[in-house]
Amino acid sequence: MEPAKSLETALVRNLGQLTFTEKQNRSARPPRGSGVSAPKHSAAANPRRAPSQLRNLEDVARLIQQRPCRNIIVVAGAGISTASGIPDFRTPESGLYANLQKYNIPYPEAIFDIDYFTCDPQPFFSLAKELYPGCYRPNYVHYFVRMLHEKGLLLRMYTQNIDGLERISGIPEEKLVEAHGTFSSASCHLCYTKFPVTEAKKLILSNKVPRCKNCQGTVKPDVVFFGEDLPKKFFLHTKDFPKADLLIIMGTSLQIEPFASIVNTVKATVPRLLLNRDPIGPFQKIPLKRTDFMELGDLVDGVKMFARHLGWHEEIEDLIRRHECVVKPKSANPGKERTKSTSRPAAVQRRKKTAPEDSSSSDSDTESTSSSGLS
Ligand SMILES: [Zn+2]
Repeated sequence: MEPAKSLETALVRNLGQLTFTEKQNRSARPPRGSGVSAPKHSAAANPRRAPSQLRNLEDVARLIQQRPCRNIIVVAGAGISTASGIPDFRTPESGLYANLQKYNIPYPEAIFDIDYFTCDPQPFFSLAKELYPGCYRPNYVHYFVRMLHEKGLLLRMYTQNIDGLERISGIPEEKLVEAHGTFSSASCHLCYTKFPVTEAKKLILSNKVPRCKNCQGTVKPDVVFFGEDLPKKFFLHTKDFPKADLLIIMGTSLQIEPFASIVNTVKATVPRLLLNRDPIGPFQKIPLKRTDFMELGDLVDGVKMFARHLGWHEEIEDLIRRHECVVKPKSANPGKERTKSTSRPAAVQRRKKTAPEDSSSSDSDTESTSSSGLS
């Protein structure tokens, strides 16, 4: 099966979760062609001694503090961005997929269907105007991952989100795998010739269709559509996951392939921490593996608690203060700014009051973001 087909299957299942629960069960299998396979290392075969039973967050924090962990992988979904005020795509009634009537499309999936886009790109471009960056900012969770990087501990972050908040928080591109694509680049949907992202955004926001300078095909942001390949970078997971010595999973339902399967491709002795509202994937089986631990509830609260156990909380707060003060928010669509959002984190609200207007921040930090996560 080709990667494109795998993604199509994955995303169709994603959409299908709204109504077809039976698909969730089937999606536990890795699709052929996704590059996901069972772990090659068993606990018995691995010469390293498995860690003791993980009983609480302190135990997990101790693994980071006392072991030479330098290869932590983070797997994240839409849940990490809800504290930034970004609605989940799939929330019934308020979610994106439940509110597509105004685009006059035959079925919700059409808005991200590459075949439909070829025939009529306008519905997606109308939506893209809303998805381009407003005033959303990263929250504590994004900065926690940035801190993992700052400490030299982050092997890679695999995100299902297309909101770009990981980049804005300062996690470098080489540490990021945006599995469902990004608004930070654009290309022709026919010949894949790159197109200047700033120009594409400007045209789309002006209700104009960006055209490929090579073949005149329609240009779109490099967000992965149904029927399109996963980004090549995603396949780094085949090298990354066997190298991981700690896996942190947060803010995801883990019901979407290939993400649902890659969390099972770390070595059997590798500790896995779930920070989430609900138990998901392998964390639904009680008792948990002794190397698995989950902290359920509000994600930001859970991550803060973890950061406190690590002794990083003040450092992260300081990082947020410094970063949010030097980064000048740049709205692509002022009419869509969520400046009065009550769901924005407190740190961001503080920044809004104090951020200097003439900040010398890097525009690239805020240039390429959207306001939703396709996950
Ligand atoms: Zn082209």
